[in-house]
Amino acid sequence: MANLLDGNSLAKSILKKVKVQVLNMASPPQLAVIIVGDNPASRVYVDNKKKDCAVCGIVSYEFTLPEDIGEDKLLALIRELNERCDIHGILVQLPLPEGYDIQKIIQAISPEKDVDAFHMLNVGRILNGEYSFLPCTPAGVIAMLDHYGLDPKGKHAVVVGHSNIVGKPMAMMLLHRHATVTICHIHTVDLAAFTRQADILVCAVGKIGLITADMVKPGAVVIDVGINRKEAGGICGDVDFDSVSQIASYISPVPGGVGPMTRAMLMQNTIKAASMLS
Ligand code: NAD
Repeated sequence: MANLLDGNSLAKSILKKVKVQVLNMASPPQLAVIIVGDNPASRVYVDNKKKDCAVCGIVSYEFTLPEDIGEDKLLALIRELNERCDIHGILVQLPLPEGYDIQKIIQAISPEKDVDAFHMLNVGRILNGEYSFLPCTPAGVIAMLDHYGLDPKGKHAVVVGHSNIVGKPMAMMLLHRHATVTICHIHTVDLAAFTRQADILVCAVGKIGLITADMVKPGAVVIDVGINRKEAGGICGDVDFDSVSQIASYISPVPGGVGPMTRAMLMQNTIKAASMLS
């Protein structure tokens, strides 16, 4: 039976450290969270981020905008927040409603306040290995591997999913840790042939049951980034936890794995932004 990569307890201990760092700052960092429309999942994510801020002593401001606010007004708000000295971090909760140009919106955020690390300057810095901010989800995965003493160096890491916000930066960060990295995606032919080679398998797709035990090398470390809503309620990942946990050496659960780690990394990025701007 695999060891559990317990994101809940690790995230809690990170938040405690962030709280101490905040107490030692001249004034608390301030995070602006923008939510457009009424996507129920986004609502939950934003509420959780606000809760984490409260735990750490970070001040959070929510800007809730109607779905039809339009790009111009959204961009005007971002520009205003960019100018405000009292705001250290800005994030726009994704996804945005249909019709918004996500890239245009993200690129409008000042790179110094881009706590999600989605701005192209921050993305480029990750490629160079000279980053200020790391995107929260892959950073959470790396923090988890570090905590459990799972060094990617020399290992074959297979990342399933090649999105800009998870898969691609995840692959780059594993590469920086000297793993040999394979990236798989929707057009990969014979996914299992690749996943079976993985010493470290990271799955970030959003498909229930995509990774089954026959696709996993015995003893592999399996990290499940996926979040899927179950018909019966609740959430699950992309990995068939019951069968894969029988053969993996370590596995992250959903919920309680990468999700809370992602949120903890946001808190770390926010204090980093405040320190850099002060
Ligand atoms: P996305 O939709 O942007 O990307 C999905 C990726 O999966 C793409 O690269 C696509 O090519 C690939 N893919 C789709 N079907 C596939 C298949 N059958 N085989 C192989 N690859 C396939 O999604 P995203 O934003 O990268 O998020 C991925 C998942 O991670 C989602 O479930 C999302 O909810 C979750 N997520 C979790 C966290 C967290 O904190 N735990 C954070 C961000 C995203």
